[in-house]
Amino acid sequence: MKLTILGSGTGFPSSLRGGPGYLVQSGGQAIVMDLGMGTLSKLHGLGIPLDHFGPILISHLHPDHIAELVSLLFALKNIVISRKIPLRMIGGPGLKGLVTQLQEVHGGWIRPERFALQVHEVAGGEIPLGELTLRAVPLLHTKGSIGFRLTAPTGESLAYSGDSDTCPALVDLVRDADLAVMECSFPDTQKKEGHLTPSEVGRVATEGGAKRVVLSHLYPECEGVDLVAQCGRHYQGDVIIARDLMSLTV
Ligand SMILES: [Zn+2]
Ligand SMILES: [Zn+2]
Repeated sequence: MKLTILGSGTGFPSSLRGGPGYLVQSGGQAIVMDLGMGTLSKLHGLGIPLDHFGPILISHLHPDHIAELVSLLFALKNIVISRKIPLRMIGGPGLKGLVTQLQEVHGGWIRPERFALQVHEVAGGEIPLGELTLRAVPLLHTKGSIGFRLTAPTGESLAYSGDSDTCPALVDLVRDADLAVMECSFPDTQKKEGHLTPSEVGRVATEGGAKRVVLSHLYPECEGVDLVAQCGRHYQGDVIIARDLMSLTV
């Protein structure tokens, strides 16, 4: 699996960091996790064609994680896009209702006609995605928030927290993961309920035995702070600060 960080930021507009978005490429699939601000232009820059990419995994329905959902469906109506294959969208409870409501507002402009839009709601469990296995794990953030874990047939695993506070399910999500992409919204001195600090990421990663950690979903308050040191006080493995368009092999 190859992970490319499309956006390492949040809903806060930033010239440094796009909104949350992650591309996972494996076995011909181009899976996109979350559709934050700037995700679509980054995909275009990487040469990922809208005709073929997918599935899309949505961690939760906060606007920073679905910001470009309408833009994507509108772009897919463009005559130059010849997509025929279904587009699968997988997320927690509420995703179907959201898509339906957006389509009621925007009408035919975001209702695909040439391909099927398949929206799946998951509350947990495993789903095969091509050669990969996807596990969805409910986490502590909003009602319906889920984290994702992708496992290759050869056993390598990538965990993505979406947004979450500390909870036993998050430890389970990152258990023995080869790479854990974890939200790290604010530094240790500015803990906000529903989000993680670097120290909390470190503790969760240690408890779960994650082999490498990427700190992402970084609010501007994180800039200039030694997040690696804060996380490293509680975790012995590699700590990587996410940057937009950074690629990592899992
Ligand atoms: Zn967020
Ligand atoms: Zn959120």
